Amino acid sequence: MTIITNHMPTAELQKLDAAHHMHPFSTQNELAAKGARVITSADGVWIQDSEGNKIIDGMAGLWCVNVGYGRDRLVQAAARQMAELPYYNTFFMTTHVPAIALSQKLAEVAPGDLNHVFYAGSGSEANDTNIRMVRTYWAEKGKPTKKIIISRKNAYHGSTLGGASLGGMGGMHAQGGLPIPDVYHIDQPNWWAEGGDMSPEEFGLERARQLEQAIHDLGEDNVAAFIAEPVQGAGGVIVPPETYWPEIKRICDKYEILLIADEVICGFGRTGNWFGSETVGWTPDIMTIAKGLSSGYQPIGGSIVNDEVASVIGACEFNHGYTYNAHPVAAAVALENINILQEEKVVEYVRDDIAPYLKQKWEALADHPMVGEAKIVGMMGSIALTPHKESRAKFAADAGSVGYICRERCFANNLIMRHVGDRMIISPPLVITRAEVDVLIERAVKSLDEGMARVKDAGLW
Ligand code: PMP
Repeated sequence: MTIITNHMPTAELQKLDAAHHMHPFSTQNELAAKGARVITSADGVWIQDSEGNKIIDGMAGLWCVNVGYGRDRLVQAAARQMAELPYYNTFFMTTHVPAIALSQKLAEVAPGDLNHVFYAGSGSEANDTNIRMVRTYWAEKGKPTKKIIISRKNAYHGSTLGGASLGGMGGMHAQGGLPIPDVYHIDQPNWWAEGGDMSPEEFGLERARQLEQAIHDLGEDNVAAFIAEPVQGAGGVIVPPETYWPEIKRICDKYEILLIADEVICGFGRTGNWFGSETVGWTPDIMTIAKGLSSGYQPIGGSIVNDEVASVIGACEFNHGYTYNAHPVAAAVALENINILQEEKVVEYVRDDIAPYLKQKWEALADHPMVGEAKIVGMMGSIALTPHKESRAKFAADAGSVGYICRERCFANNLIMRHVGDRMIISPPLVITRAEVDVLIERAVKSLDEGMARVKDAGLW
C-alpha cells in the first residue's frame, strides 16, 4: 500500500481523497471531478496548500481557530495530557483533573450564574444535550407538557438529528425526515432579504414579536425554551436591526421559558466580549459552546448551565452521555486555549483594537458597486451582493450563483471567504494583525472586482 504524505503530487492526493473520503455539505461527484484543495500546514492566520500557495484564512477554519494556527502551548498541553492520561470517562463516579480545571475556568469566564458544564464532542452534540436537558428540566418541575423549543428559520444549530431540527435550514430538513417533533421555527431578523418596505427598526420589532405570538399560539404551558445564535453565523452573518434583541429580551423576561444562547460561533471573544449574548444584552439559562473553546485544536463542545437548571437536573438521574464527555486531552487543550485568551488579552484586543479597525475597512466595502449592505459585529462580517443596491434586488440567476463565483475568485486570490447564498462572509482568527486585515480586504476587493466582471460577462447583472 502507498504511504500517503504531504509530498505526494497534488493530483494523486486528490484522486485518493475522491476515492475514499466523503466530504460534509458537498456534492461528492462534482468535487471528485474538480479535486479538493489539499491543505498541508498553517501558521498564524495563514494556511498553506500542497501547491505551496499561502492563503489568508478569513474564516478561522470553520469559525473556530480563534487564537490562530501553530500554537506550541496547545501542542504541549495535548502531548502532556496524552502521556499522563489519554482517556478516561466521567460516567461512573470518576472524574479527572482536566475536567475539573476546565469546568472551573468556564464558570469563571461565563457570565452570571452559568456555573456548571455538561461536555460533548461538538456543538451539535451539545445542542442534542440541550433538547433533552430542557425537556427533562420541565418534567422534573412537574410541567411535562413544556416540550416545544422555539428556534428560527435559517438558524444553524448542528447536523445531528436534534441539532439539524433546531436549525432552520430548509435544505437540511428536506433530507432524512426532519425536524423531530416539538420544534417550532419563527422567521429570522434578516432585513436585507426579507424586510420589504419596512424600515429596519420596524422589521426588527415585527420579527421579535413573532416570538411572543408563537408563545401565545403554542401555549406557554407547552413551550420549554427559545434557542438563538446571538448573531446568526452559518445563515450568513445576519446582524439584526437594533430593535430586535431588546424586544426579544422583554418577551423572554415575561414568559416562563428557558433561554439557550448558541455560542458555538459567538463565544470566546468573536463578538468583542467573551460571549455573544453579552454583546446583544441578555443572559441565557444555557449556553452551547464548541469551536473557539479549544480554538479547533481538539473536538470539544458543551452546555454551560445556570445554578437553577443544574439544581433541577442534579436531582434526577440524567440518562445522557457521550464516550468523549470531557475528554481529558480535549479538556486540557481547551483550558490552555482559554489561558492564552486571558493572558494575551485577546478579547480586549478584539474589542478595543482589531474589530474597530476591521469594521472601518469592512463597512467601506459597501461602496463597491456589487455590494449592498456590509455588516459586522466584532470579528464576524458579511456583505450582501446585489445588482441594484437601492431596491436590494437579486441577481437573474439561482440564489448563490453569484456568491459562488465570488467565492471562487477569493479562492483563486488566496483568500478564504465563504458564501452563503449571495452573501459573502468572514470570521478570521481573532489574533489577525492590522497589516493582515489590509491584505484580507485588498484580496476581497480584487475578488469582488473579478467576480463582478464574470457576472456581467455571464449576463447575470
Ligand atoms: N451551533 C452553531 C451556531 C454552529 O455554527 C455550529 C457549527 N457551525 C454548530 C452549532 C454545530 O457545531 P459542530 O459542527 O461542532 O457540531
